[in-house]
Amino acid sequence: MNKFDYLTPSSLDEAISLCASYGERARYIAGGTDVMVEIKEGKISPQCLISLRHLREGLDHIVYEKGELKIGALVTHRMLELSPVIRKEFPILIDAVENIGSVQIRNVATIGGNIVNAVPSADGAIPLITLGAHVRIRGPKGERAMALEDFFTGPRQTLLEREEILLELVIPKLPPRTGGAYWKHTRRAAMELPILGVAVQISLGTDMQTCTEARIGLGVLAPTPMRAKKAEAILKGKKVDDEVLEKAGKAAANECKARDSIRGKAWYRKDMVEVLVQRMARVAMERAR
Ligand SMILES: Cc1cc2nc3c(=O)[nH]c(=O)nc-3n(C[C@H](O)[C@H](O)[C@H](O)COP(=O)(O)OP(=O)(O)OC[C@H]3O[C@@H](n4cnc5c(N)ncnc54)[C@H](O)[C@@H]3O)c2cc1C
Repeated sequence: MNKFDYLTPSSLDEAISLCASYGERARYIAGGTDVMVEIKEGKISPQCLISLRHLREGLDHIVYEKGELKIGALVTHRMLELSPVIRKEFPILIDAVENIGSVQIRNVATIGGNIVNAVPSADGAIPLITLGAHVRIRGPKGERAMALEDFFTGPRQTLLEREEILLELVIPKLPPRTGGAYWKHTRRAAMELPILGVAVQISLGTDMQTCTEARIGLGVLAPTPMRAKKAEAILKGKKVDDEVLEKAGKAAANECKARDSIRGKAWYRKDMVEVLVQRMARVAMERAR
């Protein structure tokens, strides 16, 4: 492993200007569970790691106000898992984070790192695009925001520029009678990356049967986390019964871009999307009720 400098800026401005001065030789580090693995495997060899853990801005807040949820980029998966408000209001996030790595990993790994690392299997990203999350970003030119769905451009690629720092994720107020669920499909129960991930969020009308809004997020089924918009359109406005769910499941399987990999064949992934979209929609509706 190459030697590197480890810098501990105390403010966002200092971190950004350090990153600008080191240029391509620098990398931000939060929990380090992705960065250190990449360094050890020789995939990257930064001359300088800029730690985000000493910033006075903190970036480790979980704030739930008037139905809107703000999650700082440095919030760890374990903090999310143990948050009473997330458990009560956003169980779809609990489904995702409580199955990431192990407790030791979740104690240090951050939600921001999971998003910026941008692998198609990122467990945090799939429920967050389903929840309609936005990202807030800060760089040398100031702040900007965008939908998380638009943030990913390819495997390990995002719209984040080199010096920019992800500040927080903002989840807008959900419609009434909304529920969501995420399933990480794996061969083992722990310490496993998903063969695929499926998140479904459904809002119900006052009759508790008609779907007024639907969002479906799929992971490892395209180069980036994706939404199954054709399947969502099948659910929206319908009384959700077995027939409608089956159609939505098939539509999601058709629109995903599943491929063969060491963890699963494309045909298997498509079959499982069809099944899991239906299964997660049922859990989502239970939770909405
Ligand atoms: C044993 C093991 C098991 C794992 N299991 C899973 C799993 O089940 N599911 C899963 O999704 N992931 C898993 N991971 C991957 C990893 O833990 C997560 O992606 C984690 O959330 C990354 O967060 P981090 O804080 O460690 O990121 P870091 O490694 O510190 O950073 C990751 C990337 O993001 C950048 N970065 C970090 N924070 C910011 C920020 N705020 N602004 C700008 N750039 C930033 C870094 O420069 C780097 O490029 C596992 C990893 C290990 C080692």
